[in-house]
Amino acid sequence: MIDLRSDTVTKPSEEMRDAARDAEVGDDVYGEDPTINELEARTAEILGTEDALYVPSGTMGNQIAGRIHTERGQELLCERESHIYKWELAGLAQHAEVQPRTIDAGPRGVIEPEQVRTGYVEQSGHRPGTGALAVEDTHNSHGGTAIAPEKIAAAAEAAHDFGLTVHLDGARLFNAAAAHDRPAAEFVDPVDTVMCCLSKGLGAPVGSMLAGPEAMIEEAHRVRKLLGGGMRQAGMIAAPGLEALANRDRLSEDHRRAERLAEGLGRVDSLSVDDPETNIVLVHTDRPAEAVLDDCEEEGVLGVPFAEHTIRFCTHWDVDDDDIDRAIEGVERAV
Ligand SMILES: *Cc1c(COP(=O)(O)O)cnc(C)c1O
Repeated sequence: MIDLRSDTVTKPSEEMRDAARDAEVGDDVYGEDPTINELEARTAEILGTEDALYVPSGTMGNQIAGRIHTERGQELLCERESHIYKWELAGLAQHAEVQPRTIDAGPRGVIEPEQVRTGYVEQSGHRPGTGALAVEDTHNSHGGTAIAPEKIAAAAEAAHDFGLTVHLDGARLFNAAAAHDRPAAEFVDPVDTVMCCLSKGLGAPVGSMLAGPEAMIEEAHRVRKLLGGGMRQAGMIAAPGLEALANRDRLSEDHRRAERLAEGLGRVDSLSVDDPETNIVLVHTDRPAEAVLDDCEEEGVLGVPFAEHTIRFCTHWDVDDDDIDRAIEGVERAV
C-alpha cells in the first residue's frame, strides 16, 4: 500500500528509536527533563524566538495560542479555510471563548493587509473588538501553498498597527522555508508566536512546538497544563523530535516527488491537478472523490477526500520515486 494520506503517517527512523531509548529524562512538569529543555532551546534558536514550548500536538499548540493571544469575548481574525478555524472542533469557541471572524484569502490563502484592516473590529458598546490575527503557512486546505515571508509580514504589520498580536500556524513551516529556500526564522520574524509540527514531514512520532517571546511562552506553559498537556519524562518523545529538526533539508525531496506525482496524474484523463508548491497535491476528479478513493485503495494507493470532487495526496519520507511511479499507475487504473 502506498500511503499518501498525510505526512503524519511516517514511522520513526532507527535513529529516532535509538534516541528515544537513550534519552536523558526528568520530570518536565518540574522543568527537569534535559531532553525537553534541549529541544525547546534548539527550536527557539532555529526559529529566532526568545523561547519555545513542547506540546503534544499542533492542535494543542494552536489552541494555546488562541487562548494567550485573546481575551474572552473578543474576535480572532483568521482565514476561511484555516486549520485553526476549520479542523479543530471549534476549539477557539471552546478554549479561548472568542468569535472567529474569517477572511476569504483567495485560492492561495494569502491574507492581504487590506483584508486585515477591513476585518478589524474596534471594541465598543456593541462590538466585541478584535484580539489577534492568525495566519497559516504552508496553507494546508489551499493545497500546501508556500506563502512568502514578505506576505506574512505585510498582514502582520497591518494587525500590529491596530495593536493586535499575530500567531502563525506553521504546522508545515519548514516546508514553506524549503520551498522558498529561506530560513524559517524569516517567516517567524514578523509574527508574535508560531506553532510548527515535528510529527509531519520532519518524521517525529509525536509533538509540536509553540515558540515566541518569553512572556507569552510562560503563559502558554500555564495553558498547556490546564489543557492536560503537562507531561513527565517526555524526553522519550522529545529526543526523536531533535532528530526530526535535523531533517529539515530533506523536505525538498518530498516537494520534488509531489511535482513528479502531479505531472504523472496530470496526464491522466478525467483528472485535473493543481501545481504543487510543497508536498501536497490536490487532484480534482470527475466522479465523487470518495468513490475514486475507494478504487484507488483497491489499486494500492491511499489519499484523503478534501472536497466533493477533490483528493489530497501528500508526499513524505516513507515514499520514494518508485512508489510515486507506482502510485501514478495505480490511480490511472482506478479512474
Ligand atoms: C496538521 C495541522 C495542524 C494540527 O496538527 P496536529 O498535530 O495534527 O494536531 C494544525 N495546522 C495545520 C495547518 C496542520 O496541517
